[in-house]
Parts: sequence; structure tokens; C-alpha cells
Amino acid sequence: MSGAATISRVCVIGAGVMGAGIAAQVANAGVPVLLLDVVRDPADRSAVARGAVERMLKTDPAPFMSKAAARLVETGNIEDDLAKVADCDWIIEAIVERLDLKQALYAKIEDHRHEGAIVSSNTSSIPLDRLVEGRSEGFRRNFLITHFFNPPRYMRLIELVSGTGSDPAQVARIADFADRALGKSVVRAKDTPGFIANRIGTFWIQAAMNAAFDLGVSVEEADAIAGRPMGVPKTGVFGLADLVGIDLLPHLKASLLATLPEDDPYRAIARDEGLIGRMIADGFTGRKGKGGFYRLS
Ligand code: NAD
Repeated sequence: MSGAATISRVCVIGAGVMGAGIAAQVANAGVPVLLLDVVRDPADRSAVARGAVERMLKTDPAPFMSKAAARLVETGNIEDDLAKVADCDWIIEAIVERLDLKQALYAKIEDHRHEGAIVSSNTSSIPLDRLVEGRSEGFRRNFLITHFFNPPRYMRLIELVSGTGSDPAQVARIADFADRALGKSVVRAKDTPGFIANRIGTFWIQAAMNAAFDLGVSVEEADAIAGRPMGVPKTGVFGLADLVGIDLLPHLKASLLATLPEDDPYRAIARDEGLIGRMIADGFTGRKGKGGFYRLS
């Protein structure tokens, strides 16, 4: 690979469950990262993404391989620091799973990214063609979906989705970096709703939850069956929902229902118990919140 094609600085936007973990992974590879999020507390603009890094440093097992790796992460907020993406070769968007917010962010990134910088989305379910609506040809040429899995330090897979306008050299550049620097197995997926993993996974999680609710089976009993025996070690289906984030589930469902074919079998099982909405409203968003289907230990 030529020197010009290497990735020497990365920006991750969205310091949540995935963005913070992806930033840690890039830093573990020795590559400096800029991690940005929105300002939630205007009184403390500097605390935005730093909180995510500090939380990770306290986690055991920590996503950072060393404190030196953690020091490679510079944090900031999107309101003040977006212009800094101009120094980054790869900009990874990992904000909330909403098409409108992602599209609005890309419009701003387009003003700042340097020519040749790659922009990718960590979306779980939104087709690439929808994400780049309204963007220039130059932006589209350098845009991909890089779908990391949770937690990024331990899950080896990345689904890589390119569009009809994507530059094959940039696709190869990211595949090479993900493989060699991040140690990931890269699976090329088509630009279809949910790609491969979530097209299957969302169906499976919903079907398992429906069965548990209908049969009156407890969360623990359901996970004992839909866990290790079915190849989902440790979490099972409800534990997986807690890990992923309960608040992600309605966004995933909405984006799949907006894009799947009319005869897709997911439509028949995607029902709403009202429970998920009540949990989110009460702050039970899973491990990142007050707890979820399981209490936090
Ligand atoms: P999250 O809710 O934990 O984090 C999202 C972060 O983005 C929050 O910190 C929020 O403040 C920030 N944010 C929202 N709007 C922003 C904006 N305009 N600019 C900057 N920051 C903004 O979400 P998550 O679970 O990390 O998911 C992020 C993305 O990754 C989504 O597209 C999701 O579908 C995808 N994903 C999630 C998982 C998972 O297991 N949670 C797995 C794979 C992919």
C-alpha cells in the first residue's frame, strides 16, 4: 500500500456504546483518534466525549489495551470541533440510528472533510443509498458502511457495504486497514436493509421475544434456552438487548419496516408490546442506562 493510502488519523462521531468502543479499537492499533459527540451540558462543553473515555477506562475488561492507547483519543464536541475532521483520513459516524440525523451530519461533514477522506456509517440497518441522498458525487465516491459489532474490542467481524458510486480503491483501503490494523474479518455485504447480520438477527430477536411473552416464560428461562444452546454465549436474547441498548430497538424496527420488501416475513412478527417504549421512557435502556431486562450488578 502506498504511503498516501494509509490511515493516519481517524475521527469517530458519536461517543455512545459503539462509537466509544470503535475509538478505543482504533487507538489500540496505535492510530490517533478524534472522538466527537453532541453537547448535552452547555455548562461543560469539554466533558462531552471525555466522559465516554473515562467510563471505558474504568470498565473491566477495559476496551483499551493500555493507558497509552487511551491517550491517543482526543475528545471534543461537534459544535466546536467539527472542523478538525479536516485532518482525518477516515471519519466514522456512529450516532443514533436515525436517517434524518445522519443525513444532516453528513451535510456538515461534507464542508470540512479533505478530498480523499473516507466517511463511513456504523448503521445497523439503513441502506447506503438512503444515507447519501443529497450528497455530492465526491462524497458518494468516498462513502461506505462499516458495520462494527458490539463490543468492538471482542467482536471480530465488520460488514463492509459499498454503493454503486463507491471508489473501489477506497473500499480496498478500508478493508485492508480493518484487517491489518484492527484485526477484523471483513465480510462484504450488499446494500440491502439490515445487510446480513441484522436482517437475520433482528428477526431472530423479535421472534424469540414474542415466544417468551406468549408462553409467559421468564427472562432468565428464555435466555437459558436462547443463549449458549443456540450459540449466543453469555447473553441470550434479552441479555443481548440489554447489551445492544433497548433504545436502539425501535429505531432498528422503524428503519427495517421503512425499507424491507412488502412480503418480508419480519413484517408479520414486528409487533409492539408497549413494554420497550415504557422501559426507554423510564431510563431502562440496558447496560448503558439504569439496567434493562436485567438489573445492573
Ligand atoms: P448510542 O445511543 O449508545 O450512542 C449514540 C451517540 O451519538 C450518543 O452519545 C449521542 O449523544 C450521539 N449523537 C447523537 N446525535 C449526534 C450528532 N448529531 N452528532 C454527534 N453525536 C451525536 O448508540 P449506539 O448503540 O452506539 O449506536 C450508534 C450507531 O451504531 C447506530 O447507527 C447503531 O445502529 C449502530 N450499531 C449499534 C450497535 C449496538 O450494539 N448498540 C451495534 C452495531 C451498530
